[in-house]
Amino acid sequence: MAKYIPKQYRHIFFDLDHTLWDFEKNAAETILSLYDSYELHKFGKFTSTDFYKKYSYVNQRMWQQYHEGKITQKELREKRFELTLTKLGLEPEQIPHGLHESFLTICPTKTAVFPYCHETLDYLKEKYVLHIITNGFKDQQAIKMASSNLNQYFTEVITSECAGCLKPQRQIFEYALNKTGVKASDCLMIGDSLEADILGAKNAGMDQVFFNPEKKKHAQNVTFEISCLSQLKHIL
Ligand SMILES: [Mg+2]
Repeated sequence: MAKYIPKQYRHIFFDLDHTLWDFEKNAAETILSLYDSYELHKFGKFTSTDFYKKYSYVNQRMWQQYHEGKITQKELREKRFELTLTKLGLEPEQIPHGLHESFLTICPTKTAVFPYCHETLDYLKEKYVLHIITNGFKDQQAIKMASSNLNQYFTEVITSECAGCLKPQRQIFEYALNKTGVKASDCLMIGDSLEADILGAKNAGMDQVFFNPEKKKHAQNVTFEISCLSQLKHIL
């Protein structure tokens, strides 16, 4: 049997949200702080936990609609709180102004990252060229990276907004390869989404690492799978 020789990657692409930057934790903290600062308890209709749960549900559905091209970025940002609070029983005229602006201002300044994020990136940056490919918006992603002290590790930050297309579309990976001047076979893509990151990278000819902290079952054939960022040291 031929001896397995680990492939020599040169460039590593990371997804940002839910892979490095702990989106759930940061959004939850923000939503709970908005409940207090906008005194939403005064309506007596829902708790801060209800508010967070409903927001998460609405937000996820609206992102899906955004990915399907059914709504715009502006509609996503402006309607998610309106819809959340209407579903929780408020009349449209009771909905406080400025919630979505406050969310957009506060959330990206939150600093939670996944365990071993900085330690692993410190290790990897000595051996590889690191980049980000994210489906987020350019302004928001830049603030998140600065707040959580991630800028120091990455050479290129490719956002869907700059590339004009979203993961898993092949074009965003090609845009990233062009921008960095490397071949797909020299790259590895690390992300938490089987669709956007793993399938997208695979179709673009890149090997992939599926970051699966909840150890969800799946049937996708992936190059590597990890449940903690520290495991990257064993692969790379
Ligand atoms: Mg992600």
